[in-house]
Amino acid sequence: MANKFKVLIIEDETAISNFIATTLKSNGYMVLLSSSGKEALSMIASHCPDVILLDLGLPDIDGLEILKQLRKWSSIPVIIVSARVNEEEKVEALDAGADDYITKPFGTSELLARIRTAMRHASQNNTIQNDKFSVKGLSIDFGKRLVIIDGKEIHLTQIEFKIVSLLAKSQGRVLTYDQIIAELWGPYAVKDNQILRVNMANIRRKLEKNPAEPQYIFTEVGVGYRMVDE
Ligand code: CA
Repeated sequence: MANKFKVLIIEDETAISNFIATTLKSNGYMVLLSSSGKEALSMIASHCPDVILLDLGLPDIDGLEILKQLRKWSSIPVIIVSARVNEEEKVEALDAGADDYITKPFGTSELLARIRTAMRHASQNNTIQNDKFSVKGLSIDFGKRLVIIDGKEIHLTQIEFKIVSLLAKSQGRVLTYDQIIAELWGPYAVKDNQILRVNMANIRRKLEKNPAEPQYIFTEVGVGYRMVDE
């Protein structure tokens, strides 16, 4: 098949890279493997993968450093695959241009969903954004600034609408608190998560049947928010 998507797995633990490679191959992806940072950087340049799965803990170069170098010349979707559960590192990776992250151990369906999301966003960057959004009974008309749930119009303030729209346009992908604040109030705005939390509490009261168990906008603790995918 000439039109298979190419995934580069940058991972030094053979057990994990084998597991991922087997999963991806059986789901129709073409797989490239690299176990070191130096090799990975040259493979990216020569093979132009569609998606990169990047381990943060590599023997030679730190995964975050690879990401920073890569982002100087490429916007290939990068999903961080990490055993580290440190929230600051996740935030740092996302702010440095990672598209998403997945924490080991993870399931096959979660991995495949993240890859699909990352590739969809990559292709959307090259086309005009859809003016409408719809998921699980929630629909948004960006042009008309309308939010409808199960046929009923929901009244959001301007800021609330902006937050919901931003997350919807990055559907399936986590946005960090800083990314959301910068997008809404500009890059020099005070990084105050409290304002965001208050707005999110109001949004959830209006959107969710049970704000304590959201079905549309999820909290990634210590990292940011993510709009439900599919
Ligand atoms: Ca590792």
